Amino acid sequence: MLKPRELSLDEMGDLADIIPGPDPELKATIRAISQFEADVTRPIIPVCEPTLTGNELKYITQAVETNWISSAGSFIREFERKFADLSGARYGVACANGTVALHLALATLGLEPGDEVIIPTFTMIATANAVTYCGGRPVLADAEPCTWNMDLNQVEDRITPRTRAIVPVHTYGHPVDMDALRQIADRHGLLVFEDAAEAHGARYKGRPVGSLGDAACFSFYGNKIITTGEGGMVTTNNEQIARLAWNLRDHAFSHERHFWHKFIGFNYRMTNMQAAIGLAQTEQLEKFVQMRRANAAYYSALLATVPGITTPPEADWAMNVYWMYGILVDEKAYGMNRDQLRRALAERGIETRTFFIPMHCQPVYFDQYRGQRFPVAEDLCRRGFYLPSASSLTRAEIERVVRTIREVRARA
Ligand SMILES: *Cc1c(COP(=O)(O)O)cnc(C)c1O
Repeated sequence: MLKPRELSLDEMGDLADIIPGPDPELKATIRAISQFEADVTRPIIPVCEPTLTGNELKYITQAVETNWISSAGSFIREFERKFADLSGARYGVACANGTVALHLALATLGLEPGDEVIIPTFTMIATANAVTYCGGRPVLADAEPCTWNMDLNQVEDRITPRTRAIVPVHTYGHPVDMDALRQIADRHGLLVFEDAAEAHGARYKGRPVGSLGDAACFSFYGNKIITTGEGGMVTTNNEQIARLAWNLRDHAFSHERHFWHKFIGFNYRMTNMQAAIGLAQTEQLEKFVQMRRANAAYYSALLATVPGITTPPEADWAMNVYWMYGILVDEKAYGMNRDQLRRALAERGIETRTFFIPMHCQPVYFDQYRGQRFPVAEDLCRRGFYLPSASSLTRAEIERVVRTIREVRARA
């Protein structure tokens, strides 16, 4: 039987300092007094929620009414085309979720055991796991303080004869400096697969993410900028990668005869129902991005005068889409630490989430990276968390969150 890798804080040594405490219990302390007030402020502000106010119901009804609910049907190709188009890519390969989008893209490489793929340690575990599923070895690079993305200065140092690819992550919606990364990759003949799971609609020097590497992987999980419930997509301008990914997604059925397989394929298909929702969401992507950027600008303006709070970055060549509005807490200047502030917010009905715990600190990867340290990622993990970030967040809700952060500080 599979046994979990237990990791005690003792075994982690001083790395244990960065591991967040348990999630605080959310309390609904604010009661809506009037119908009017119920409209502007809710007892609990969730950290994230989908916005399903477009053609979602209409299209999914069409899927049911026309009897096309499985993984054939016109919404799949339409969603692939429309989403790829917005991402500046020629091809889109819809699939079951963002994790398998990463797996599909990497599987087209044909990694062999021991092959290496460079990824940031500061990411969600799917980035590392997708490499592991292929038999490859994730090689970790630290984050950089100015964008919270992978530090490109570390990437070149980590390239070895076994390196096959680099997977940059557009963290929390902020694009990676892709021209600089491309130069490194080209010097060494490496492929670049963007993990764009958090960055739908983000732009780098005016160009959309999703077409800045050899392929890109998106997630449409319920908390992402657009959602299909569960879903993902590989976008690419490379016809070979697209064809292979389409084929591997569908058990690698051969074109010569149906039940004839030349690859170990997968069933990573998306259904027409998910694609129906995806198409309706894609129609609203630009609007959602504008809403998120307006929300982020409002948060940052209000938080600018709160001592000890660092607001999220945006490089001058970047258009951040703020998948999550993340902040860092300086314990001395703010008067309490991140976990204490989160607890105080939870007591006042405001849901938050801590930043990623880096890959080298994960029980399941700890032995693989024992002794390696990544101080920037560790600092982000110790001090970072995100505030309510849904596209549909209202100005009144943002004001309530920031007012609460101020009040909590005043009483610290
Ligand atoms: C959400 C996410 C994924 C995984 O997507 P799923 O659809 O949940 O499988 C991968 N990478 C990053 C960076 C993510 O944020």
